[in-house]
Amino acid sequence: MRIDLHVHSSISDGTDTPTRLVMQALSADLDVIGLCDHDTFDGITEAAEAGRRVGVSVLPGIEVSAEIAGRGVHVLGYGCDAQDAELNAELKRIRSGRADRIAPTIDALREAGLEITVADVEAIAIGAPSVGRPHIADALVAKGYVADRDEAFATYLAEGQPGFVGRYAPSVERVIDLIHGARGAAVIAHPWGRGGEEVVTAEYLAQLVSEHQLEGIEVDHQDHTADQRELLFRLGARLGLIRTGSSDYHGRGKSGHDLGSNLTRKSAYLDLIARIKARGGVTK
Ligand code: AMP
Ligand code: FE
Ligand code: FE
Ligand code: ZN
Repeated sequence: MRIDLHVHSSISDGTDTPTRLVMQALSADLDVIGLCDHDTFDGITEAAEAGRRVGVSVLPGIEVSAEIAGRGVHVLGYGCDAQDAELNAELKRIRSGRADRIAPTIDALREAGLEITVADVEAIAIGAPSVGRPHIADALVAKGYVADRDEAFATYLAEGQPGFVGRYAPSVERVIDLIHGARGAAVIAHPWGRGGEEVVTAEYLAQLVSEHQLEGIEVDHQDHTADQRELLFRLGARLGLIRTGSSDYHGRGKSGHDLGSNLTRKSAYLDLIARIKARGGVTK
C-alpha cells in the first residue's frame, strides 16, 4: 500500500487543482493521499470526489500554522470536522494574517528595488483562499527576478531576508487542542526541518504528548536528514507517537517533493485511522 499523508493543492500553495492532484496521485501509483492544505479545508470535497471516481483514498487533512517562541511550526490535523466552529474561527484569523501580510511584503520588496505589485501576486494566487509567500515567490519568478521559489525564499522571503514580514499564528498547544475539539488527530509536520530541532525538542514533544495528547510526528520528510529521521523514529517510538512520512508535494512549486517520494507505513496509517475514529472524526 502506497500512502502519502501530506500533499498540497492550489487551494493553498500547491500548483495542482484538487482534481489534478488526485490524477497525479493515481499516476504515482498511490493508494492514499492526505490532503493538507495550509489553514483551509476548501479543497477536500473536490479531492474526495475525484478520489472516489478514480479509486484513490483521500484522507481529509489540514496543515495549520502555529508558533513556538516566535518560530513557525506546522501542525497537521487529520479527520477534522471541517465545519467545527472554534477551529474555523481560528483558521479565519490565520488566513486574514496571511492576506494582510501581502501588501507590506510588496512594500518591502519595492523598497529593496523590485518592481512588483499586489496585483502581480493576485494574478498568481487567483482566488486561493489561503495565500502564502510561495505565491509572492511565483510572482517574482514571473517577473524574472529569480529562477524559482527556492531562490525567491533564499534571496527575499525567508526570515532574515529583506522581503520577510511576520504574520499571526496561534501556539502549537492551542492548535492541537482545536484539532482535537474538531474530533481530529494531530501530527507535527516536519518537526526538525529548517532548524526546527531548536524549538521542537525531545522534551517539548514529550510535554505535548503528556499534556495535549499529541498523536504523531512526521518522520520521513524531505527536510529531514537521514540522521534526523533515525533519531525521530526512535524518539517517536519512545513517546508512543504515530510516525508518518510524506512528500509534502506542492506540484511544480517545490523541487525534491515528488508525489510518493516519502511514504507512511501501512501500520502507522491504520493507527492514525483508529485514533481519528476514537475521536469521532472523519476518515474519508
Ligand atoms: P507561508 O505559508 O507564507 O508562511 O510560507 C511558507 C511556505 O512556503 C511553506 O509551507 C512552504 O510551502 C514554502 N517554503 C518555505 N520555504 C521554502 C523554500 N526555501 N523554498 C520553497 N518553498 C518554501
Ligand atoms: Fe506550503
Ligand atoms: Fe509545512
Ligand atoms: Zn506542507
